[in-house]
Amino acid sequence: MDLNVFRDISYGMYVVTTKTNKNVGCFINTLMQITSENPTISICLNKDNYTNECIKEKKRFAVSILEECENDKIISTFGYSSSRDLDKFKDIKYEYVYDMPVVVQDMNSYLICDLVNVIDCGSHDLFIGKVVTTKKLNDKQAMTYKYYHEVLKGTAPKKAPTYIDDSKEGKSNANKYRCKICGYIYDDAKEKVKFEDLPDDWTCPRCKVGKDLFEKI
Ligand code: FE
Repeated sequence: MDLNVFRDISYGMYVVTTKTNKNVGCFINTLMQITSENPTISICLNKDNYTNECIKEKKRFAVSILEECENDKIISTFGYSSSRDLDKFKDIKYEYVYDMPVVVQDMNSYLICDLVNVIDCGSHDLFIGKVVTTKKLNDKQAMTYKYYHEVLKGTAPKKAPTYIDDSKEGKSNANKYRCKICGYIYDDAKEKVKFEDLPDDWTCPRCKVGKDLFEKI
């Protein structure tokens, strides 16, 4: 199987949120519209994900659509940690719509959905949502996964449905180091300082963990 084929599938960049006894949310790239009349959409979430169990409990969720931007604050806040452990909304601009905490910072639009079905897909669940309202926030371009990959140098974390394990592709990755948390690649060939020479207090540019959580690949 050539895993590169999966890189040819296009995706967007979204934050899905809901509220139980606290506000929770996570980053996803797997959203698609299913029907246009009585619009429904689907999103895919890892079963280990705290937001997964909270959507099942609340039976409603919001999806904010990320705009093209040069910073990855929203991605690093919602993408690489669990709402179980921290308040991801602390320094983020959001507003309540239909009792949902909707992230509006760096977003160009959002949708609110009522959960109508959950399909068990093994490691992940597919959530089907009936759209109850939408709002356009601005006319900026929505960020694609390709933009995230090429401009922000992003990669999918291990829990994402679209994660690709480069080590299985037989690629030569000498002098590259990967963050075990967010997948950020530090490539000695492209940096001024070699990874081994970075100071001990250096942290991952994306998810802020220390050097000890990087592995040589
Ligand atoms: Fe990281």
